[in-house]
Amino acid sequence: MDISIVIPLFNEAESLPELHRWINQVMRNHHFEYETIFIDDGSTDDSWSIIEKLQKDDPRVRGIRFRRNYGKSAALNVGFEHTQGDVVITMDADLQDSPEEIPELYKLIKSEGYDLVSGWKKKRYDPISKTIPTKLYNYVTSKMSGIQLHDMNCGLKAYTSDVVKNIEVYGEMHRYIPVIAKWAGFKKNR
Ligand code: UDP
Ligand code: MG
Repeated sequence: MDISIVIPLFNEAESLPELHRWINQVMRNHHFEYETIFIDDGSTDDSWSIIEKLQKDDPRVRGIRFRRNYGKSAALNVGFEHTQGDVVITMDADLQDSPEEIPELYKLIKSEGYDLVSGWKKKRYDPISKTIPTKLYNYVTSKMSGIQLHDMNCGLKAYTSDVVKNIEVYGEMHRYIPVIAKWAGFKKNR
C-alpha cells in the first residue's frame, strides 16, 4: 500500500463527508493505493455515525473510536499503530489542511528520501491571540531542537512508515513530533 492517511478528530461531523470525498478524488486521480484511518477522539456530535457510514460504503476507510476525549496525540498514536502504507500522512479533519498537498508530500518521502515532511499553513486566519503564541512556540522549538520548520504544529505531515512505527506520542507531544523523530534518530526532514 502506498499511503495511509491518519486523521484524528473531535466533533468534526460537519466536515467529514466533504473531507472524505475530497481525499478520494485526489487519491484516485493519482492512482494511489491507500487507506484513510479516522480516529474519533471521543466526539459528542454525529462524527462516529458518519464514520461508520463511510466505513460501510468505502472499504478504504477505517474507523477507530475512543470512549472519551484523550487528545490529538493519543489519537495519532493509535492511528500510527494501524497504518499499513509505506508513507503515512497526517492531517486535521477541519478542512484546514488540503488533500491536494498529499501527492507532493508523498513524492518528497518516496523519491527524495526524506523521513518527515511538514506542511505549513501559509495563511493564518486565526486571531492575533493565537498567532503570536504560535510564532513564539515555533521560534523556541526550532532554537531548542535545531530543526528549522515554519509551522511545527501544522497538522499536515508526511512520514515514512519507519518513523511512525518507532515513535510514541502522548500528552501534548503531537506539537513536537519532528523533534521526537529527530531524537529517535531520524534526520532528514524538511
Ligand atoms: N482534535 C482531536 N482531539 C482533541 C482536539 C482536536 O483529535 O482533543 C483534532 C481536531 O478535530 C482536528 C485536529 O485535531 O482534526 C486539530 O485540532 P484543531 O483544529 O483544534 O487544532 P489547530 O487547528 O488549532 O491546531
Ligand atoms: Mg484546526
